[in-house]
Amino acid sequence: MVIEGGSWGAIKFPSIVGVLQHPTRGWVLFDTGYAQRFIDETARFPEKMYRMITPVHLCDTEKLAFQLSQLGISAEDISYVFISHFHADHIAGLADFPKAKFICSERAAKAVIHSSRLGGLVKGYLPRLLPHDFLARCVFIERTKKVVLNNQYAPFRHGYDMFNDGSCLAISLPGHAVGHYGLMVESQGRARFLVADACWTRRAYIDGIKPNRLAHIIMDNRKQYLESLNKLSALYLANNELHIIPSHCQESFEEFCSV
Ligand SMILES: [Zn+2]
Ligand SMILES: [Zn+2]
Repeated sequence: MVIEGGSWGAIKFPSIVGVLQHPTRGWVLFDTGYAQRFIDETARFPEKMYRMITPVHLCDTEKLAFQLSQLGISAEDISYVFISHFHADHIAGLADFPKAKFICSERAAKAVIHSSRLGGLVKGYLPRLLPHDFLARCVFIERTKKVVLNNQYAPFRHGYDMFNDGSCLAISLPGHAVGHYGLMVESQGRARFLVADACWTRRAYIDGIKPNRLAHIIMDNRKQYLESLNKLSALYLANNELHIIPSHCQESFEEFCSV
């Protein structure tokens, strides 16, 4: 599914979470990955189909709350969770962070909230993963300050400045899911672009590898997905110092992540 023309077989597919420390806003997460709640909410049909199609391995030491505790961070310390999109593998842990505000696309949030049980499931949504006070805690990306990006991020032209200091810029990467956003994080002169599921592997933007056509069934808009992927390839070609990190890339996981 990940590589057009690739062989069929199971591969490791990590679910990467970003942990950022902002000097004044505190701890910020980029997505939450899986959580026990995903296992619980997919125990019965029809939701069980989700887990059958994408089998999950989640032991206690892989749970985000445990990993954060290893960094000396408690769940209450998380001030914000940036939600790239609402597929269950990115939002299953939202309810574990009682004090966090949720930065997300308004269009995406409303799509998942208003989805029916089956209609949502087909799109990869499990609305029951959202905390009961979810909407009251949202900061909608589209209502934050829109900025023109530095030339070094061409062909991306615009972003949204999450904290009004240029440190965290939400950049639209449409196609994979409704309201899908990446986050450009600048710190001490270095930038990292967390691109979530705009592509599944680093090879995709380096070598221009598309996913299998079957994978497009779950996508919101195939044409936009390929446009976003082409833009990431162009960005990488022009600026290969920049670390572009897809959420499910095993190579990126081995290079940048620790568990
Ligand atoms: Zn996704
Ligand atoms: Zn994903």
